[in-house]
Amino acid sequence: MKNIMLFALVVLLCSFTVDAKVKFGPIVTTEGVYKSFYEVQGDSYLIEGDILVEPALEKDMKGTARRTGRWDKGIVPFVVDDSIPNPSRIADAAAYLNAHTSIRLVARTNEASYVYFKNNGTAGCSSFVGRQGGKQIINVPDWCGSGSLVHEVLHALGFYHEQSRPDRHKSIKVKWSNIQLSAWFNFFVAPFAKKYGEFDFNSIMLYPSYNGFAKDPNKPTMTKRDGSTFEGQRNGLSEGDFAALAQMYPN
Ligand SMILES: [Zn+2]
Repeated sequence: MKNIMLFALVVLLCSFTVDAKVKFGPIVTTEGVYKSFYEVQGDSYLIEGDILVEPALEKDMKGTARRTGRWDKGIVPFVVDDSIPNPSRIADAAAYLNAHTSIRLVARTNEASYVYFKNNGTAGCSSFVGRQGGKQIINVPDWCGSGSLVHEVLHALGFYHEQSRPDRHKSIKVKWSNIQLSAWFNFFVAPFAKKYGEFDFNSIMLYPSYNGFAKDPNKPTMTKRDGSTFEGQRNGLSEGDFAALAQMYPN
């Protein structure tokens, strides 16, 4: 048994050494600082594939630089980078949220805190979780559609991924053996994620069973407790998402 553990540790360490893009250290969130693995992509730091994080600075470690987390009155000022192709997908995402929720995405005038939709070419969609204070990026690659952009805006509003909930073990199993070792950290529980209602397999914040972190893409990385697989829809908010948003931003 000890040998197996040692072997696993060596494989794990080698994979991180080879894949130098993954680092370990304290990261800052709106709820506090915790230690995690994170991926370095250019000048961005990512967990779970599309959540932007920042390595913690000394002031963060002292707890003096907590971010604000929520948007006042649910109003989110935003700016769209001029170079983003097909900007109507951002307008569509904003119109969807404005029509169906109490959140208001509004064109920024001079607000200090706002979302900046940035052209990300062919890289990934990504967003910080919660209001950071000041300008905060949502990365918009060419392929990111309005449904995925709603998902990213929900991150900016304070949502984590459904599969990262601290109580997820009651609803899903993570198939560690089919996840690339250098991507394991993307399946760790988010320690500050709050539980709103029951685990929601219809949530727009849920990753599908089959995803890009798999060793074998024909096999799932996550299943329901009974072994069956699930989809991750990006069509709109589920009833559970609407309820969670209403709890997060009560009027
Ligand atoms: Zn996400």
